[in-house]
Amino acid sequence: MSDETQSRISKGVYIHYCMHKGCNKWGAYGFKGRYGTEWFCFEHKDDGNLTPL
Ligand SMILES: [Zn+2]
Repeated sequence: MSDETQSRISKGVYIHYCMHKGCNKWGAYGFKGRYGTEWFCFEHKDDGNLTPL
């Protein structure tokens, strides 16, 4: 365990969670949406594909 990971996160890696309603998992998958990049977790990444531009 090192402090490096911790500091790297706090140094401005954009925090993005799944944008699916009611889901607060980590959004690992980014999609181009109307308001910029939208993020979804593995479970909801199909939502990103369906987002109309
Ligand atoms: Zn989700």
